[in-house]
Formats: sequence, C-alpha cells, structure tokens
Amino acid sequence: MVFVLDKHKRPLMPCTEKRARLLLQRRRAVVHKMFPFTIRLKDRILEQSELQSLRLKLDPGAKITGAAVLREDTEKGVAVFLAEILHKPGIKRKIEARRNIRRSRRSRKLRYREPRFNNRTRPAGWLPPSLGARVLQTINTVNKLLKLLPITGISTEHVKFDTQLLQNPDISEEQYQRGELYRYEIREYLLEKWQRKCAYCHAENVPMEIEHVIPRSRDGTRRISNLTLACRSCNEAKGAMMPQEWLEKLSRSQKALDQRRACNLPAVLKKLREPLRDAAMINATRWALYERLKATGLPVECGTGARTKMQRTEHQLSKTHYYDACCVGAGTPKTLVIACDYVSVWAASGRGIRKMCNLDKYGFPRSHRKRKKSYYGFQTGDLVVAHVPKGKYAGRHVGRVSARESGDFDIKDHTGKRICQGVSCKHMQVLQRGDGWRYGKQKIA
Ligand SMILES: [Zn+2]
Repeated sequence: MVFVLDKHKRPLMPCTEKRARLLLQRRRAVVHKMFPFTIRLKDRILEQSELQSLRLKLDPGAKITGAAVLREDTEKGVAVFLAEILHKPGIKRKIEARRNIRRSRRSRKLRYREPRFNNRTRPAGWLPPSLGARVLQTINTVNKLLKLLPITGISTEHVKFDTQLLQNPDISEEQYQRGELYRYEIREYLLEKWQRKCAYCHAENVPMEIEHVIPRSRDGTRRISNLTLACRSCNEAKGAMMPQEWLEKLSRSQKALDQRRACNLPAVLKKLREPLRDAAMINATRWALYERLKATGLPVECGTGARTKMQRTEHQLSKTHYYDACCVGAGTPKTLVIACDYVSVWAASGRGIRKMCNLDKYGFPRSHRKRKKSYYGFQTGDLVVAHVPKGKYAGRHVGRVSARESGDFDIKDHTGKRICQGVSCKHMQVLQRGDGWRYGKQKIA
C-alpha cells in the first residue's frame, strides 16, 4: 500500500501500488516522500474525499514492536499496513561505557573536581533510558503514521492477562465466563506466576499442564489459587493425592527427583496463597505508552496478551509481531483480510554519537572527531542514490551514507550492511535526509 496525502498534505485513504503508479504517470500526483513511500494528490482536498475508519493496532515488545493498520469494513477487517518497529539495541551498554569513560576522567591528573552530591531527583514518570527509548520510538512511529493515514482509533496490548477478570470471572462479559478466553487468560497468568517452569521439579521447556493442587476429585476448586503448572511426569506422579499425602510419600522415597519435589512442595503451597500481583503496575513502560497514546486525542482500546494469543490462533495466523498486532483488543473483527504484500521494517538507529574522542581498545584517545557534521552537502544517515560509472562498485546503489571529510563515502543498506565503500560523493544524490530511522521491508510470513 502507498500512503496518499491531499493537496494540503492532509492524509487520505492509502491506495495500491498500481493506482499510485497510474496517478504519478498521469501527473495527478507527485512523490511526497520516498520512505515510507507517500504520494500527494495535486487536485484533491480532504473535504472531497470519502474516508473509512482505520484502526492502528500495537503489540509492544522488548526488542520489536508490531504495528498494523486495519480498515474496519462492516464485518471484516482489512490489514492495509503491517510493520515491525525494531527498537534501538544496546542503550544500557552504551550508557555504562560512557559512565566508565567519565569515571576515568576523575582519577586523571587534572584540576581538582569537586564531588557532586547525590542531590539530583528524578522527575515524575521517569523511566530508565533503555525503556524510555522504547516508548519514545513507538510514539514516534504513531505520530508518523498519524500524518500519513486518517487513523480514527488505537488499540494496544496493555497487559499479559487481566487480573480483574481472573479474580471475578462472574461479573464479566458473557463469552468470558469459563469460556475460551478464560482458559487463555489462566494459562498466561500461570506461565507468568510460575516462570514457565514445572512448579514441583522446576523442569523447563517441556509441555506444561494445569495442575489442581487440591485435586478436583477431593473437592478442590477451579479457583486460580488452586492452580499451578506441572510437567506431565509430576502431574501423573501426584495423581489424586492431597499435597500432604504426596509430601509424605515423597519423603519416604530415595530418588533424587522425588527429593527435589519434596523440597519444592512447601514453597509451592506458600506461593499459591500469595495474592495476585498486579502485572499492569509492574510494567511501567506500558503505562507510560498508554498515557502517551491517550495524549494523541484518539480513543485508545487496551487488550490483554491472552486475548491476542487466542484471536491469533482463531484466525490461524503465524506467530509474528505484526500478526499479533492485528489481533490486539476485543474489537478485532471476525474476519481478517491481509491486503499487504510486504511488511515494513522500521529500525530506530539514532542520529549519530556525541563522543568527540575515539578511543582504542585500551581506552586511550586514538583520534578526535571534527566539529563538522556535513560534508559536500551530505550528512551521515542521509538516504542517497549512487550511480557509479566504473570500478568494483559499478552500478546503481541506494542506501544510507557515511559522510567523510575526504569526499569518499560508504553506503549501507537498511540492515546496516555495507554495500559499497569509498565511493566519490560526485556520483551521489540525496533522496531523503536522515531522521534517525532505517526504512526497509521484508516478505510477509
Ligand atoms: Zn515436574
């Protein structure tokens, strides 16, 4: 799909690549932006156009956030845009490296530096930089899409499971009571609470079963406080025994596995009684993102991870970040049509570094950077096209440029891989100025 703007740069409904090509050929439109590819109609304004409702759906993740834009027709949803937002990696590592360099400066033979007192406070809503960046990058993408698409609503995955609904399943909606969704919510909750391990023997990466600690046959309830995760062998070994009976039997056994089970059992019983911890409160970034999304002025719908998983399974979509995003929230339509041929991959790469002194591997100064950032009209990160007439790199190349004082530049593709090296800037032309992002696409799964 191609993004379309009106005469006054306001977003209209997106169109297909073919239609965009025809509009450009007939000179009814101009190219507004190369990445993401956007055209601007010269003869149309927003008021003359018919808009349908578009919903932006987000599945926030630690490394990758999935995004999807669904056109909500009656009864069905059409995915017109799918994307993966790759968050900038290594922020914590880089900040630690910077702190070490600063620290070494203190112990050097320089002027006396007064120690700074611990009198700095963190503003309300402060997040660690690695987490804060994730929120900002997601909001940046949302704002970018709001300029390109007439989005009317946002859905986001807010929590892994719904603690309110788990505690009071009877007060909630009809389909929830002991239904499919309830099973998904319970499973997600138990996986989280028991850290994806068998509660009795701590086995990992094995199929897990939901275990009633006080067995159903001995009047054990279906309440969440009577449920735990167990591997097949523990579940079978325990059978219909009460925990105390099993503990007695285990303590008579000489087997190492049984002794381990006996050792873990009291802790399991203790943990069962612990109240449901509020997963939403723990995840500060999700709240920060939610507040920022609300600030866009659009209605924001929140969904749980369990619901996403259930709906993705129902729609028989494979496990990818963008399909997860399609299935976020209770308002997901019954039928989903994927109208995209590819997935946009937008990677946050930053706008360069502030470090003026390059260090060797021992931490000694190796060289100093120039104050200048732009050379011959190019700046590192700009998207360029190079027509190289001869030599090793003869041909046409498109990518991000690394500008050097010498005038011989390198070009990298959207994954950061170098595609040519030491090509003269005379053969290059700027397509789009760098904005701290690398735009690419990949085939749909
Ligand atoms: Zn086990």
